[in-house]
Amino acid sequence: MTYVVTDNCIRCKYMDCVEVCPVDCFYEGENMLVIHPDECIDCGVCEPECPAEAIKPDTEAGLESWVKLNGEYARSWPNITIKRDPPADAKEYDGKPDKLEKFFSPEPGEGD
Ligand code: SF4
Ligand code: SF4
Repeated sequence: MTYVVTDNCIRCKYMDCVEVCPVDCFYEGENMLVIHPDECIDCGVCEPECPAEAIKPDTEAGLESWVKLNGEYARSWPNITIKRDPPADAKEYDGKPDKLEKFFSPEPGEGD
């Protein structure tokens, strides 16, 4: 089992999650984060910290494509453990539908 970052992180990227993870398993893309499924210890500490409610356990139904996306990009994006300011327009994008199709970027973020 692992936790995964899902749609609503895209362009919100508040980063409250990275500071609480005991094993530093968040990786940063240009406009979202992902969790490395082989490093996550399933502690669940990050889930309630996400203001966008984008972090879910992979035991929830319908998350298969997100588990795949997290695993794939965690292997190429840089590790992130320190919170930075969220995008200025993060609130505007919170809750928008179909963010993956409309706004996902495969480009890496800056990392720590
Ligand atoms: S706290 Fe939530 S919205 Fe922010 S970066 Fe982490 S998963 Fe994404
Ligand atoms: S569940 Fe725990 S180990 Fe996994 S990403 Fe969240 S804080 Fe890190």
